[in-house]
Amino acid sequence: MIKSDTDISRLPRVLQRFLHYISFDTTADDSSSSTPTCEGQKLLAEELCRELKALGADNAHVTEHGIVMASIPATPGCENHPVMGFIAHMDTSPEAKGGPVNWRIAAYQGGDIVLDAGEEIVTKVSRFPELKRYAGQDIVVTDGHTLLGADDKAGIAVVMGVAEALLTHPEIPHAGISIAFTPDEEISRGTEHFDLQAFGADYAYTVDGGELGEIDVETFNAAIAKVTMHGTVVHPGIAKGKMVNALRLVTRFVETLPKDETPERTDKREGFYHPIRIEGGVEQASVIILIRDHDEDAFEVRKSRLAARAYDYDRYGEGTCRIVMRDQYYNMKKYLKRTPKVLSAAKAAIRACGVTPVKNPVRGGTDGAKLSEAGLPCPNLFTGGLYFHGVHECLPVPSLLKAEEVAVTLAKMSAEIESLR
Ligand SMILES: [Zn+2]
Repeated sequence: MIKSDTDISRLPRVLQRFLHYISFDTTADDSSSSTPTCEGQKLLAEELCRELKALGADNAHVTEHGIVMASIPATPGCENHPVMGFIAHMDTSPEAKGGPVNWRIAAYQGGDIVLDAGEEIVTKVSRFPELKRYAGQDIVVTDGHTLLGADDKAGIAVVMGVAEALLTHPEIPHAGISIAFTPDEEISRGTEHFDLQAFGADYAYTVDGGELGEIDVETFNAAIAKVTMHGTVVHPGIAKGKMVNALRLVTRFVETLPKDETPERTDKREGFYHPIRIEGGVEQASVIILIRDHDEDAFEVRKSRLAARAYDYDRYGEGTCRIVMRDQYYNMKKYLKRTPKVLSAAKAAIRACGVTPVKNPVRGGTDGAKLSEAGLPCPNLFTGGLYFHGVHECLPVPSLLKAEEVAVTLAKMSAEIESLR
């Protein structure tokens, strides 16, 4: 069996790279105000920068905010082609322990995967039915005590594979290629300090998706609302007819949200309201509510419906309920429509590698959604990994190899892409 302490030099390069990158604990730390938010990300950034330099990439450097950037100049004749970018993120989710990762490569024969026999930590097919598709394959798994980090170190390994493929074969024609590895994607700070100008790409792909063949071109439209109730405090002994309890009003507000429009009762393209935190007391209380919808019109309706509910509370006094709302990100589909080649090239690359592209409406956002909005069309490609953000995270090896093959194929196709329309 191949595990953390065995010699990995005979494994495919992309897998070796992946296993090396997951030895860095890069758990994003929401409580930190520095960028990146943890030391492990800094160390990994330096390592990746070193590797890019060693491969011969141009201008490999780590920015003051911990973003690794590098480029590969266009080959002769492709200098005027749109520049293609590849992006992956270095941090891992704070939802599970990020290290040290004790991985092993399981020769999966189907059925449950025992991660830790002593503590009975088992990836059960009954709960993770997608596993069935991978019977007969090698799968990288953890010992059940940390996440694996395929999200998104598999993406980094794939992008590094692209750099190596092009830089060791200068005879392969390609457009200019930009590469970036970002920190703190998992806590939504990945693109905070991302300098599009410096990146220099006209379009890009995040390599941060899930299963084999998946391509994400749609995200939610997202807004966040803070609903605050202002009560009237009177001593409870003489409160009759006078007290207005803000805490009760806030819970009523939550109770009267549509019962079937919650994350736990919706899927595919169904939107929802998602209250995530209540705070306060009798005098003042508030609730934070996330609003999500793939459809732009439905998203607007959802927001105005929520806003209108403030008036229901005027009977306790005008201004009892105040709602402040802010848009967070938009469905990248509408931006990608303007540059159809970006998506069609990705689909063609996936097909050219013998895989069927699966368009996946993401029930969340991606860095690409924010970048697309900022002017860099940026769909998300698969890494092959499954069950991100937890100890059951795993990575079928053939899927990782395909992810690299697809990305390299796509990079080569840049030589034929003269316009994005
Ligand atoms: Zn990710």
